[in-house]
Amino acid sequence: MNKVRFLILAFLLVGSQLNAQDFSKVKITETKVTDHIYYLKGAGGNIGLFTWSGGNLIVDSQFKPLGDRIKEKVASLSNSSTKYLIDTHYHGDHLGGNSNFSSNGAIVVAQENVRKRIQTSFFNNVLKRDIAALPKEEWPVVSFKESMSLFEGDEEIKIVFTPNAHTDGDVVVKFVKNNVIHAGDVFVRYGYPFIDTDGGGSIGGIIDGLSKIIELSDAETKIIPGHGELATVEDVRELRSVLEDSKNTIAVLKNKGKTLDEVLTMKPLAKYDEKYSGSFISSQVFIQLVYSSL
Ligand SMILES: [Zn+2]
Repeated sequence: MNKVRFLILAFLLVGSQLNAQDFSKVKITETKVTDHIYYLKGAGGNIGLFTWSGGNLIVDSQFKPLGDRIKEKVASLSNSSTKYLIDTHYHGDHLGGNSNFSSNGAIVVAQENVRKRIQTSFFNNVLKRDIAALPKEEWPVVSFKESMSLFEGDEEIKIVFTPNAHTDGDVVVKFVKNNVIHAGDVFVRYGYPFIDTDGGGSIGGIIDGLSKIIELSDAETKIIPGHGELATVEDVRELRSVLEDSKNTIAVLKNKGKTLDEVLTMKPLAKYDEKYSGSFISSQVFIQLVYSSL
């Protein structure tokens, strides 16, 4: 009984993190990554900002009510207008502010599954709530299947699709010359990652996505996670090894015929829990997500 209550509570936390309500006290702060790249924190996912002499590009847009504060911060760091906005995936804490920027002329770019997903309401069984369709002004106007590049200033901005990872439309963005990656929610630093299995995510896809980030990196690469502080490729490697081991451990138990409840009772990830089990994704919720995605 205790366990059931715990899981439900954790799911509510997931929902509230993606759909926070009170934005009145949120402040937008910036961290400088290179001379031309910053990331901004407020509420929701980290926003990447790339500036060049003719414009700027942002990765993700957080929540709609934060638009003026985010635009003010961007204007304090860049003399020119926002030319592009790249959505890393469909969750509202990452693309909820799209029209704040598209209404001023920014071109919104996303993987095609993001565009599809936000056009139709659906009940998300993992989040246990309706995800409402978004109006047309929020939709990306450029979509692509696998990968694409933008070229601005001296920079190549590579947008790389990582299939069925955190969701079914995730991309990671590499600023080649600056040697910076914005990882979206394929790589997060709040502990065990949230896998939106009802939005097309899977544990195997997250591991493959982390491998893609590692492939795109060297020891100097600065990695902006979807949530949390700046990281290096070593941090990504560490998370990948935890996830590989978790996946294998839970797969062995599931293949032996253990039910989810039996697996939860065994606490198979106990050695990682102190560092990775968080208030957002507890060990139990993570095990449930991995079990259901195998
Ligand atoms: Zn997300």
